[in-house]
Amino acid sequence: MLTLEKMYSMGHEEVVFFQDKTCGLKAIVGIHDTTLGPALGGTRMYPYASEEEALVDVLRLSRGMTYKNAISGLNLGGGKAVIIGDPKKDKSEALFRSFGRFVESLNGRYITAEDVNTTVEDIEHIFTETNYVTGVAQQYGGSGNPAPYTALGVFRGIEASVTKAFGNRSLKGKTVAIQGVGSVGFELAKLLTEVGANIVYTDVSERGIQKMKESFPHAKFVAPNDIFSVPCDVYAPCALGASVNDETIPQLKCKIVCGAANNQLKEDRHGLILKEKGILYAPDFLVNAGGVMNVSIEFEGWADSKSRRMIDTIYDKTLQVFSISDEQNIPVNKAADVMAENRITSMKNIKNSYLGVKINHRMPGQKRRF
Ligand code: NAD
Repeated sequence: MLTLEKMYSMGHEEVVFFQDKTCGLKAIVGIHDTTLGPALGGTRMYPYASEEEALVDVLRLSRGMTYKNAISGLNLGGGKAVIIGDPKKDKSEALFRSFGRFVESLNGRYITAEDVNTTVEDIEHIFTETNYVTGVAQQYGGSGNPAPYTALGVFRGIEASVTKAFGNRSLKGKTVAIQGVGSVGFELAKLLTEVGANIVYTDVSERGIQKMKESFPHAKFVAPNDIFSVPCDVYAPCALGASVNDETIPQLKCKIVCGAANNQLKEDRHGLILKEKGILYAPDFLVNAGGVMNVSIEFEGWADSKSRRMIDTIYDKTLQVFSISDEQNIPVNKAADVMAENRITSMKNIKNSYLGVKINHRMPGQKRRF
């Protein structure tokens, strides 16, 4: 159950429940922290077994967005929305437009985007009702499909990791094992091929495997359970979360873990286990931030070049996190949290200085409002 105590302990500013019986909308928006700016994060649609499960998810995901947006250097806070429903049966124009109207009512404190089980078409319906939405199609001035940009960020993260582990940035001749060659994994394979890296990959989708065989005949396919034990330089999880766990870590024969999947470490302690094993872990919420960086450009007028320039900063930021990890002798996942928290705290602190008051023209006798 949601209590103020729970919000206090996780740091959430606001949690809003929306319902519209006419179209079956049941949604929760979590606004975690708006120190850096409006809370930005996608809308996930999922057939949650219970309201409680949906609530736990939105609280966890919105807090995660605060860290992702902060470490990425964005002037955005963290938020997320969940719609309770089966994306195969319950989607309708009315449902997403109704949701868009509720987002509008938050007056810009929360800005939404695509997420698991929501598509560009759904975003278009939301966009009909509110401007507080990103990831809009390119023909409407938006940034379109985020996958190539997410992949570019992961690629920069891999370059930074290789620099740290091997002393130079080059990926030529390095072997990368990709788990999941969907939207992001496939784009990552493209970038790696361009620089002469060797690719080993797996997937559970016949279509995805076929596309890889046609596009990258030199890449080697392995069965899903074999991807962990492939001798390689980089293991790149680009499928599901929690693929780094007690069962898989003993199998890993890589120097680096760096991929697109969210929440790659099953538990925080797996970050420490990787460190003790001498495997460098690139923090997932930093290296997969290319997608959110890309949509953030929509606020100033999206352009591919601006987006790529911002995403390139993931290289330096990843190296910075490695330095904090070394200096403080803490696992990389903890160092990433420290870097995000430091930025939020320092921005909160600068707001302590009083900016002065703007004196507007007053009518005679009208009181000042301070
Ligand atoms: P996707 O659904 O297009 O691709 C995932 C691929 O993984 C699919 O091809 C699927 O068949 C495969 N897969 C699923 N289970 C597998 C298994 N057990 N073994 C091997 N392959 C398996 O998703 P995506 O958009 O490419 O995103 C990949 C990951 O990156 C997700 O965890 C997502 O949350 C995260 N992410 C994506 C973006 C983005 O811009 N799309 C941004 C940030 C994070």
